[in-house]
Amino acid sequence: MSLRRFDAHNHLQDDRFGGRQSELLRVCEQEGLVRMVVNGACEEDWAQVAELAREHPQVLPSFGYHPWYLHERTARWRENLQRFLDQVPSAVGEIGLDRWKPGLSYDGQEEVFITQLTIAAERNLPVSIHCLQTWGRMLELLNAGPRPACGFLLHSYGGPREMIGSFVEIGAYFSLPGYYAHEGKNRQREAFSNVPLERLLIETDAPDQMFPNGGKHQLVDPGSGKPINHPANIAAVYEFAAGLRGISVETLAVIVEENFLRLFGGL
Ligand SMILES: [Zn+2]
Repeated sequence: MSLRRFDAHNHLQDDRFGGRQSELLRVCEQEGLVRMVVNGACEEDWAQVAELAREHPQVLPSFGYHPWYLHERTARWRENLQRFLDQVPSAVGEIGLDRWKPGLSYDGQEEVFITQLTIAAERNLPVSIHCLQTWGRMLELLNAGPRPACGFLLHSYGGPREMIGSFVEIGAYFSLPGYYAHEGKNRQREAFSNVPLERLLIETDAPDQMFPNGGKHQLVDPGSGKPINHPANIAAVYEFAAGLRGISVETLAVIVEENFLRLFGGL
């Protein structure tokens, strides 16, 4: 029997997939994928995410403004976000804070993050959070709230191991990407070894965060000719996570399914 797998975070709407989404989803199905959270990142791609969800029942849509694209937001971005959330059962994200990306301004990031967190809390929707090099401030803001009662996802958690407990106390889940199999990602693997199993989720972040070798399913962006991550590599991320935690992939799959349904199952 093939295992049931859940991708807690990806960007299936991304243009780099070259319109091949239906084909990619068929391959995902062969790898046991049941559901994936597809994260919009800006007003421009929310309609694409909504359309994917209409066409494919395995797609759970999520709408949010990612810190990298804040400069593109229109005067009506809040209303637009609410309108997408009204249209279809959906999560909030990808939202977040980023002090790592070179050239990216931090101005306005906290305001937009808190606005979206408030919307998620008001509607009690799970929210997917991106955070790079600002973990202390992230914990402060999440502690101050508001937060959705159902919980939130720290996707590709890269913060200190010592902070995991504080995030767990206020409702955090943590999703592991295949990218953390890279040799240099010792610290991140060590952190994930300390995530409570009942808060662990698995993600591809496709088309980004590839395995060191690209994974079983290789894919190329037709625009640039560069390799990208295929969402069907989810099965390999499960193998990686099971190895890291020293449990069988069957046991892991049961735990991850329970966690996924606890956080996202209401949608
Ligand atoms: Zn992402």
